[in-house]
Amino acid sequence: MEVQCPTCSARFKVPDTVSVATCPYCGTTFHVHTGEESSEEHFFFPPMRKDAGGVLLKFLSRQYGAPADITGAKVTKKELHWVPVYFFYLHGKSTRWSTIEEVRFVGIPAGSPFQGLLKDYPFPIRGKRFFDEAVVKKGKYHEPKMSKEEAEAIARSIMESALRSEAAEEDKSLGGVEIEVKYQGLVHYPLWEVHYEYGGQNFVGYVDGTDGRVVQAEYPLMSGARKKATLLGAAVLAIGLIVGIAAAGAYESAWGFIGGLIPGGAGAFGVFRKGAVKKRKVSEVMRLKEGNLYFKPI
Ligand SMILES: [Zn+2]
Repeated sequence: MEVQCPTCSARFKVPDTVSVATCPYCGTTFHVHTGEESSEEHFFFPPMRKDAGGVLLKFLSRQYGAPADITGAKVTKKELHWVPVYFFYLHGKSTRWSTIEEVRFVGIPAGSPFQGLLKDYPFPIRGKRFFDEAVVKKGKYHEPKMSKEEAEAIARSIMESALRSEAAEEDKSLGGVEIEVKYQGLVHYPLWEVHYEYGGQNFVGYVDGTDGRVVQAEYPLMSGARKKATLLGAAVLAIGLIVGIAAAGAYESAWGFIGGLIPGGAGAFGVFRKGAVKKRKVSEVMRLKEGNLYFKPI
C-alpha cells in the first residue's frame, strides 16, 4: 500500500502486512493506518554480518603506499561499540528570502569516546529498528552523556550555518530564520574498533557497523611512497657516482670521484629521510581536517 509521511508528506510504498513504517526520506517512524507517530523513541541499526577486521584490512590494502601484504596483518583486538546518537530532521528557511531554504537530516553523537570521531558523520536514514535489549550483549553499550535538548541546540546551529552559507552564496544577508526541528529518536549506532599489528607496530581503525565503511583508520606507509623514495635516493647516489667517475677521468685523479660522491650522498640522505613517514590516517567517508582529501599523515 501507499502511505504518506506525517512529517515531510512524502508518499512511498510499504508491504501490506506492516503496521509501523519509517519514512525513507526523513526517518519518521509512524503507524501506517492512523498516521500517528510511534511513541517508541529508542532505535538501533542492525550490525552487518561481515567481519570488520577483514573489511578494514581490505580497504587499507587499496590505499596509497600501503604494504601489499597488509591483508595478512594480525587483528589483535576487535570490539563492537553501541554509540548513542540523537537523530533530527530539520527544515529551515530565511524569513527574508524565500529562495533560502534547507532540509537536512542530522545525527548528533551524544556520548562515548567516539563522539568526536562521529561528528558530522553521514548517518543513514534508512534501516533503523526499535531498540532491542538483546543487542547490548553483542557489544559495549554507551549511555548518552548529552541531553536531547543540548543535541537539538547543536542541530539548530548546524542548520543555521547551512542557511548562512547558502545566503552568502547568493550574496544576501540571511536575516531572520525559521527552523522547524523534528526529533527522530535516540539511536544506538554500531561502530567497530579494530586493532591490528603490522611490522611490530600497532594500528587502530574504526569501521561503520552497519555497512563496513571505514570511518577512520591508520596504516603503515610502505611500498609505494617509501620504496619510491628509496629508489630515488639510490638514483641520486648513482648520479653522484657517475659524475665522480667522469670527473676522475677528466682530472686523472681520485679527487674528482670523491668530489662527485659528496653531493650525491647528501642529496640521497634528504630523500631517504622524507621516505621514512610510517603511519598515515585515512577515511572512506569523511574529509579529514588537515592534509589532502581523505588523507592525512600523522
Ligand atoms: Zn518523511
